[in-house]
Amino acid sequence: MIPAAEQMLSDLIRLNTVNPPGNEFKVARYLQELFTAQGIAYEIIESEEGRANFIARLGSGTKSLLFLCHSDVVPAGEGWDFDPFSGEIAKGVVYGRGALDCKGLMAAQIHAFLRLAQEASLLNGTLIFAATADEERGGTHGVQYLLKNCPEKIRADFAVNEGGEGPRTINGRQIYFVQVGEKGTAWSRLQAAGRSCHGSVPTMGDNAVLKMARAFATLGDYRPEIRLIPEVRFLLQELIRIKELEEPLNETNVDALLDKFTDRSFAETLRAMTRMTISPNTIAGGSKTNIVPDDCAASVDIRVLPGQDRDYVLSELQRCIGEDIAIEIGNYAAPTFSSAQSAHYQLITAATQELTGADTLCLPHISPGATDSRYLREAGIPAYGIGHMARDSDPDLGATIHGKNERIDVASLYFRADFFMALARKYLC
Ligand SMILES: [Zn+2]
Repeated sequence: MIPAAEQMLSDLIRLNTVNPPGNEFKVARYLQELFTAQGIAYEIIESEEGRANFIARLGSGTKSLLFLCHSDVVPAGEGWDFDPFSGEIAKGVVYGRGALDCKGLMAAQIHAFLRLAQEASLLNGTLIFAATADEERGGTHGVQYLLKNCPEKIRADFAVNEGGEGPRTINGRQIYFVQVGEKGTAWSRLQAAGRSCHGSVPTMGDNAVLKMARAFATLGDYRPEIRLIPEVRFLLQELIRIKELEEPLNETNVDALLDKFTDRSFAETLRAMTRMTISPNTIAGGSKTNIVPDDCAASVDIRVLPGQDRDYVLSELQRCIGEDIAIEIGNYAAPTFSSAQSAHYQLITAATQELTGADTLCLPHISPGATDSRYLREAGIPAYGIGHMARDSDPDLGATIHGKNERIDVASLYFRADFFMALARKYLC
């Protein structure tokens, strides 16, 4: 018998895999027991002690599909209304860190995988399930490690992974989203130097913290260039059409149009898809109340669109804050995309409509943030992000990802499982 998806998710939440340190072996060990009981072969690939990646395959043949998810979670933080690691199931909801990101997806993929295993003779291809380590800290011990050391283990015609927006109903029309791209990352470090002196005669010195504070204020006011890449232009045009806003979209009115969206988190996510964002997020300087600081360090989270490379970021930063502050782009990753015109994308749409009805609209979107999909895409494996939820699911649940009170409704778990099942059947049967 296949365990209930909500029970699997509850079990997985109770395995603390907060990264750092990760300890993803706990999930691998749990899956080992589960898959052994179901008589399904698997592999556990450890990139480092405790950092386990779990992989299982079903069927054989030339076609292949990868179900990807990750086993680590971000720290819970404070202020929860319940124990983040209790995995409590109550009134049709599973509670705890990882319920959405990404153990809920994992439970749904496993449920579909195990159901398909019972009819494996029907598979005309290979279904791969991979629960990988370290996604929340860049994937060094997970997907990156696998692609570097044993890419054949997860290589597939295409992959479905986390990263999609939850569905919305707008003007009575049901819309599901498929993530086809992710913005790039240009995390930058800033360093201001000054001259220290006694805090009682501050004009003798040169205050580095003040310099940085001015730079931060300027970055806070930064007005980025609006850039409507084709995927985002199409998405916004469709949403505007359904909302009957009757105003043709262009670079100059996109903000005014987005202001008409009542769902704030959705509108702001859309806004982030239309520009480079600069978020000055950490600042450290000064050692004592009576010493004028001669040094201040800061970090800035910058997310870029296609066509905005390292040089562009550097020149924009310099233009804003001048030459007086040293800028270093420590971590740069280009945006990645998979085609929304592909047969694989069409299958995802078809599988979604099979469950929701033919009048459901499926729209491609891009994520402001990044997932392990970027590594797959760079390795030539198209990857699509799925955030499907059941029709009546609370649209605000998405906001609990990386936040407090993370949870998922059981109906959405099964909806996702059914979706993965339908997709695998469509492609591999
Ligand atoms: Zn995740």
